[in-house]
Amino acid sequence: MEINPFEVVKKQIDIVAEVMGLNSSIVQFLKRIERSLIVSIPILMDDGRLKIFEGFRVQHSTVRGPGKGGLRYAPSVNIDEVKALATWMTWKCSLLNLPLGGAKGGICVDPKKLSKRELERLTRRFTAEIINIIGPDIDIPAPDMNTDAQIMAWIMDSYSSQKGRTIPGVVTGKPVEIGGSVGRESATGMGLYYIIEAFCEKLNLDLKSQRIIIQGFGNVGGTIASILYNQGCKVLAVSDISGGIYNPNGLNINKLLEWTQKGKYLKDYEDNVNEIISNAVLLSTECDILIPAAMENQITHINANEIKCKIILEGANGPTTPEADQILFNKGIHVIPDILANAGGVCVSYFEYVQDIRAYFWDLERINRELKRILLEAFNEVYEVSNKKSLSLRTAAYTIAVSRVAKAIELRGIFP
Ligand code: NAD
Repeated sequence: MEINPFEVVKKQIDIVAEVMGLNSSIVQFLKRIERSLIVSIPILMDDGRLKIFEGFRVQHSTVRGPGKGGLRYAPSVNIDEVKALATWMTWKCSLLNLPLGGAKGGICVDPKKLSKRELERLTRRFTAEIINIIGPDIDIPAPDMNTDAQIMAWIMDSYSSQKGRTIPGVVTGKPVEIGGSVGRESATGMGLYYIIEAFCEKLNLDLKSQRIIIQGFGNVGGTIASILYNQGCKVLAVSDISGGIYNPNGLNINKLLEWTQKGKYLKDYEDNVNEIISNAVLLSTECDILIPAAMENQITHINANEIKCKIILEGANGPTTPEADQILFNKGIHVIPDILANAGGVCVSYFEYVQDIRAYFWDLERINRELKRILLEAFNEVYEVSNKKSLSLRTAAYTIAVSRVAKAIELRGIFP
């Protein structure tokens, strides 16, 4: 049976509400979505046919500031997935204490089946359809699965053309030439690295001697694979949607990145040294640090018992279900939760937004320094709460994030 990610979200809220003793009105508030918009996006395909796609933009909460969250283009995108992703963004921004709320969006489409011109028309028309509910002080989209800097550039251009002036702050993750920030593309991977480095230090583990397995080899998975490989770690296996590739002696990540950057799948990688494995096998292969960096609901009650690692570092959003969380906790596996582990992306997106509004740009050294500072502050806070109250890292992170949102609701009160 398919797991509904928004049901997972609500269960996570119940778990933390019980730990915190939150009152039921606040719980009711937190489980609701502020605004969701479903749009039809008609485009003319290159062969002249009309095709209509479905698109979504959801704002879970703007009580702490404008909505912030990525746009996903995938055939699996649906309203409940987007609602879940938007809610996780609320917690993530709150955990980092950014003055932003949580939002997310996407289009139900397989972008690999579109030409570049079709992809551009789809993106521009989608922007027009959601134009009234996005903007620098309303809701600021960014890249997520299958969307990139070029797509953000088209959104910025479409939005600006309609508004009659250039407004770079409407999206983040843009190319640096048009108001993007240096360091944004690698920010999520960099953030994962800062967090795992800090966590290994706490556990007295030497990061370089940890054996790593990564599911997902796109922006997040590819970047963290490359950082860890170049730091001297052994990356035993990586995967994409086509399947995984495994070598108990370690893979050459630079060569694999060269391959996938040509648009090729890992399963087609031509060599006779590595073994091809499925995503399911990859997740249950023995290693020290497992990094799910593809999508939600990958570690569930069905396979959690098979997981053989010391630490799970969540690169993807929502890769572990609450049932799996409990099993992993009982097994003594540390799970560094998504809202902390992969928060580097939204952190540098926030820097990009600040730079756009101020029209003053920072260098990479400042970006990475401030990124590390903000992430480690959040990490230390989560680690301390988790130790003090004997909570999992996820529940600890949630208590911090949720309490800030609850406080904002209480201070603002209910209008009218
Ligand atoms: P991406 O499109 O760059 O890469 C996704 C990767 O996952 C690809 O290798 C793809 O082949 C693989 N994949 C897709 N479906 C899969 C499946 N069913 N099984 C196995 N592999 C699959 O996307 P990304 O930006 O790297 O995002 C990956 C995850 O990280 C998502 O959960 C996203 O929400 C999350 N995330 C991304 C960012 C960011 O800045 N891009 C920030 C925070 C969190």
